[in-house]
Amino acid sequence: MAGKSAPAIGIDLGTTYSCVAVWEHDRVEIIANDQGNRTTPSYVAFTDTERFVGDAAQNQAAINPVNTIFDSKRLIGRKYTDPSVEYDLKLWPFKVIPDPGNNPMIVASYKGEEKQFAPEEISAMILTKMKEVAEAYLGLPVKNAVITVPAYFNDSQRQATRDAGAISGLNVLRIIVEPTAAAIAYGLDKELLNNTGGQKNVLIFDLGGGTFDVSLLTIEKSMFDVKAVGGDTHLGGEDFDNRMVNHFVQAFKRKHKKDISGNPRALRRLRSACERAKRILSSIHQTSIEIDALFEGTDFQSTITRPRFEELNMDLFRQCMEPVESCLRDAKMDKHSVQDIVLVGGSTRIPKVQQLLQDFFNGKTLCKSINPDEAVAYGAAVQAAILDGRGNQKALDIALMDVTPLSLGYQTKGEVMNVVIPRNTTIPTKKETTCTTACDNQTSILFPVYEGERARSTENNLLGEFTLEGIPPAPRAVPVINVCFDLDANGILNVSAEDENTGQKSRITISFDKGRLSREEIEKMVQAAEKYKFEDEEHKKKVKAKIALEDYTYNLRDTIKSKNISSSLSSADMKKIEDAIEDAMQWLDGNQLGETDEFEDKMKELESITKRLMITKKD
Ligand code: AMP
Repeated sequence: MAGKSAPAIGIDLGTTYSCVAVWEHDRVEIIANDQGNRTTPSYVAFTDTERFVGDAAQNQAAINPVNTIFDSKRLIGRKYTDPSVEYDLKLWPFKVIPDPGNNPMIVASYKGEEKQFAPEEISAMILTKMKEVAEAYLGLPVKNAVITVPAYFNDSQRQATRDAGAISGLNVLRIIVEPTAAAIAYGLDKELLNNTGGQKNVLIFDLGGGTFDVSLLTIEKSMFDVKAVGGDTHLGGEDFDNRMVNHFVQAFKRKHKKDISGNPRALRRLRSACERAKRILSSIHQTSIEIDALFEGTDFQSTITRPRFEELNMDLFRQCMEPVESCLRDAKMDKHSVQDIVLVGGSTRIPKVQQLLQDFFNGKTLCKSINPDEAVAYGAAVQAAILDGRGNQKALDIALMDVTPLSLGYQTKGEVMNVVIPRNTTIPTKKETTCTTACDNQTSILFPVYEGERARSTENNLLGEFTLEGIPPAPRAVPVINVCFDLDANGILNVSAEDENTGQKSRITISFDKGRLSREEIEKMVQAAEKYKFEDEEHKKKVKAKIALEDYTYNLRDTIKSKNISSSLSSADMKKIEDAIEDAMQWLDGNQLGETDEFEDKMKELESITKRLMITKKD
């Protein structure tokens, strides 16, 4: 009975903090954990005797750095050799190694034994904790959840997050993107439903502890479209803390002639004090720092004002405005067309950040009534209620839409990327196309599946490949193969190929051990595609000219075999044509890398012979 089961929950699985919420009594309840905190550190720690998750793990991080794991969200769904993983590795105190499949594995000592954990397993431990927090509050076992991911997560990162949910024993109703969740939290979609309809553009400004994401959404007829994303994967509250730490290290040096920068314990204590001071400066104008016996028995006391803090970070704050501009540019949108600006992430409480953003939008009021570190979980809870049928009617009308960050397609002859789902297509989506064999009696076709914007497939990112076998021998270009790209609401891609004649089918699901493109890589690929547009076009032309010549030559060879034609030709003419075909085939063999005009010239040459001999091209 519905009354006995717990409602579905919404979980914001964050890089540094996670948050869980539930729809209850017609409103959203953010659920506090056993420590009374409404957000829980995304930390897991292992010791000789036990495992800690959340606050307990974070609290002992300083004494057990190598076995305290955080940032698993930066690893999930990526390969070990991903440049972003290589970069992060240098910053982490814990060890990460590649497994035989080149997937990153986190190494930690647990109960005296060295253990390896996949990022999915660590994320699953955090999800289990969030599930338990909800269960303690609701007094019932929780099964169903909606989990959020960043808008730039590719299909493998989304799939890996879904897997983490499954490992934690949750039935993941849906993976939704964080900016969409934040927009739902503010009911921006409902405002449209209540009014006359139309379209709304919303900017989500998400500045957290270590990451910064900007997304531009369009909401129309209850559909959410992510039009553009931007940001910085390594910018956030921790950088602001660091600036203050450096400031006080200098102050300590001046005052006491002692350098604490080589003492990790002193730095750690100073950093905690700075983070506290930073939070206080968001509501009052001055605060003090007092740390007993900070270094070599010397106490430290100082004050800091809000303007001083702002001055220390001004360049970073200004840096936060650049992705806002680039998002608008990418979405080809003027800032005046943005109706709502939503603040997400704890660092958006900083008054200067709010002011710069508001000034950029000419004084527009910002959406900040919901706690910025809870807005994403809030929206996820609304969506969870809709999906398990507990939401209200208006909420039920909502459909969620994201877009593909890169084009998806497969490689065809001549390394040409045949795009099936173009970039920025709203998902879920299903697109079909047909293809055929390239050689006579070809019984199998390989389908390498790529994501990317380059016309040349090998310049794109290979997601996986599969082979369709068992095609009955037939002349080239005769078999009809239906190819289907099906991208579901969670961004998981299924590609299938079916021989129309025999019904023989083969398929691939692009899941967590494939793909792995970071936002930086996506951006790089899109930029490269622009840069190489001309070169790619030339390559495409060349391949087209080559294929045209091949088609013409092979068709001609088949045509002259037919009785009608051969009986109408003298044997001398027949010989001339056969020689010309043979010559063209040999020329093609030796000139696979020829230039467009060479293929075109050869084509003209062959055409002139055949035309002269009154043979018309068979299609
Ligand atoms: P999030 O990852 O969204 O939970 O953001 C956490 C970050 O927000 C941390 O760096 C916090 O120090 C920062 N933060 C939280 N509250 C405040 C505040 N009142 N003022 C400034 N920064 C804050």
